[in-house]
Amino acid sequence: MLSKDMSRVDLLVVLASMGVVLPKETKLPLEELGKRLGSALDASQEMAALLGSPPVNLDLLFKWASNPGKTLFKASQRGNFTELTTGEMEQPKKGPGALKSDTFKELRQSVLALSYSFDHNIRQTSFVCQQIKSAIALRILEVYRVKDEVPLFFLEFKDLVSSAKEDLENLTNAFFPSGDLNTIEVSHLEYCAILKLFKRNSTKLADKHRSDTGGLGKKKGSTKTFVLPLCPLSMQVLGKLTSDVGCEICGEKIASKCSQCLTVSYCGKECQRLDWPNHKATCKSLKGGSWHPIDLFDMPELPPGVGDQAKHRFVMNRLDPFTSSSGLHSTTGDDAPDSHRGKIFLAKFQAPLMGGVNPSMMIYDRQRSFQSFWRKNSNLETFNQAMRVMGGRPKFYKWVRWVGENKMEICLDRSPASDPVW
Ligand SMILES: [Zn+2]
Ligand SMILES: [Zn+2]
Repeated sequence: MLSKDMSRVDLLVVLASMGVVLPKETKLPLEELGKRLGSALDASQEMAALLGSPPVNLDLLFKWASNPGKTLFKASQRGNFTELTTGEMEQPKKGPGALKSDTFKELRQSVLALSYSFDHNIRQTSFVCQQIKSAIALRILEVYRVKDEVPLFFLEFKDLVSSAKEDLENLTNAFFPSGDLNTIEVSHLEYCAILKLFKRNSTKLADKHRSDTGGLGKKKGSTKTFVLPLCPLSMQVLGKLTSDVGCEICGEKIASKCSQCLTVSYCGKECQRLDWPNHKATCKSLKGGSWHPIDLFDMPELPPGVGDQAKHRFVMNRLDPFTSSSGLHSTTGDDAPDSHRGKIFLAKFQAPLMGGVNPSMMIYDRQRSFQSFWRKNSNLETFNQAMRVMGGRPKFYKWVRWVGENKMEICLDRSPASDPVW
């Protein structure tokens, strides 16, 4: 019998289906992979932005008022720019034939199915997996609205396992004594992912809701939980979740850095020795380089009266969630990108597009974990030096490292051996 706990391989596959692609040979412990999946699930529900930190107190929310103009299904569609421009979310092939790499898409569809059913007055759903002869039986107890626009489903669920004595149908019928039921076939991996999502969210509910005796209640052994519509992860989140993978070579905990350039970390001497053939060129190019602090802004300086020079960091690209409630996804400076925590990375600098008194270069990393502007006036000498190094080209790639909020250091006199694939 297949397990309902995800294996290392499963965790890596589900994370990858969300865009969190970690090296296959990563030695990150199982527990850490599970944690990352948890964070990814939180982020895809925009948990922090919508609900703040747990516990989640449902008494503070308004109940969802039915509105013929805006169905729950519509309100639950939370895509990104790609989905917005191509229309609907791509339909995954559900059920036992589903691709493992589509697990996150399936999961999103399943949560959407809850709103679709609810719009049609069906509160009960059963996610059936024939491979493990199990069903997640759930009943929606209430729908709330968060920040006016986003539905939150308060529900109870139970993981039903058929046995020699009782088959799945009997078990399901016993759990739902009456009412319409929506049955959805899911793959084994999606089943595990749904369970993980429900169990994790349950721990975030305030005690009074978890122990609420409403619904089918304790006698049926159901668990109270909630779920928010899932949206694709933003590049910022992806950057965070793919960072800190440990030793360059084996992924184990970091014990030392390359003393020559301080840009790579290892678990010990053995891995450092193994990595030397790869690292040699970068190391030599960085050794003895000089670093200059630079200040970054969210936007170039615009002529007076044009645009809003908001202080928040502004990231927008094809993968960022686009939801009617949040509009363009933006985060405040407190959330400064830490996807390169202490590490040196390559950034792409684009020559100023606009002339004017205070031209600026646009800077971003390969993961697009941030996109910022470096204005000439903020570091005049370094900026001029950079323009000389750029020498009329439209762009260059330089080593940088974060040293603070909106502050980084750039190594101008060193370059990667060749322009990286971007
Ligand atoms: Zn190692
Ligand atoms: Zn080195």
